[in-house]
Amino acid sequence: MKTIKFVLPFFVFLFLSCLCLSTWANSSIDNNNIVITDYHQIFIPCYDKNGNLLIAIRMYFIGATPYYLVVNPYTFATESAPAANFKNRNISSKGNTTPGYYTWDQIKNTPYMKVLFRYTSGPYPMNNYGVTHAEHAVNGEFLTVDMCPSAKPFEEQFFKALVAIANRNHQPVPLAISLTGIWMIEHPKEFNWLTQQEKANTLQITWTNHTFSHLYYPDLPINQNFLLTTESNITHEILDTEKMLLEKHQLPSVFFRFPGLVSNKKLVLMMRHFGLIPIASNAWLAKGQQAKIGSIILVHGNSNEPQGIKDFMPMLQYSNLNLLPLSKAF
Ligand SMILES: [Zn+2]
Repeated sequence: MKTIKFVLPFFVFLFLSCLCLSTWANSSIDNNNIVITDYHQIFIPCYDKNGNLLIAIRMYFIGATPYYLVVNPYTFATESAPAANFKNRNISSKGNTTPGYYTWDQIKNTPYMKVLFRYTSGPYPMNNYGVTHAEHAVNGEFLTVDMCPSAKPFEEQFFKALVAIANRNHQPVPLAISLTGIWMIEHPKEFNWLTQQEKANTLQITWTNHTFSHLYYPDLPINQNFLLTTESNITHEILDTEKMLLEKHQLPSVFFRFPGLVSNKKLVLMMRHFGLIPIASNAWLAKGQQAKIGSIILVHGNSNEPQGIKDFMPMLQYSNLNLLPLSKAF
């Protein structure tokens, strides 16, 4: 009897604990995820139903339905929709001798294509290749936050400080998050928290591609490291994070950050092929570089470089920092 008295409450406790745990686990799983297949690079100019010129840079399938990821070559904004929503000829130009054709001249002179070609042309320095600051006069700075793979929880205080500023100013804080697929897989709750902030209109996130695995060997020289390792599957490194973002109802942007900011000519030309603009930095705070007007600021949000966050927090509190979306750098 004594045993039953002891054992019964124990089993009730065990049962309730399991119930609580499974409820918690289920609540953290997003059942609305979609499954994408055959995600691949394309380059197909097209028009939306209003006759706006767009460029499809990825094609994929959800079930049997073909989809495009398109970029607006004037605003750099991306959008994903069934391929059937787009037309390959401009339906508003009826009666032309070449009805609705786009020309290469028209495509290559769009702001997006000009920037893509400018930032994938030589010379090709190994370090910090890409956009380091705004191309024209701006009244603010661009915050880029790298999420390389990390065993630690993210910089919670830093992200919450950004949200607090959004709440104070009643407008979302723009930032570009350089995302790796591995960070996303290993930090599902933190990734969900970030997407919740987007929904709540506190963070305006530009998802920048930072490769899937961000391979790094501390015992290899830099010129054989990161994406320069010969074993890397570069196509998958580029495409897999984008695909995972779309499966979570997030839009990949046309911006890319090289892991370690290390690249070579071959990789940069691959970026051109994939339609991705390399984003470097002239204000990597942890390296002692100061942010100026127009700077692309670089910090790590994955807790792997606390010095950068330590340097950034006072700027957020006391300076006239005016953060801008990355697309405004062009
Ligand atoms: Zn990184």
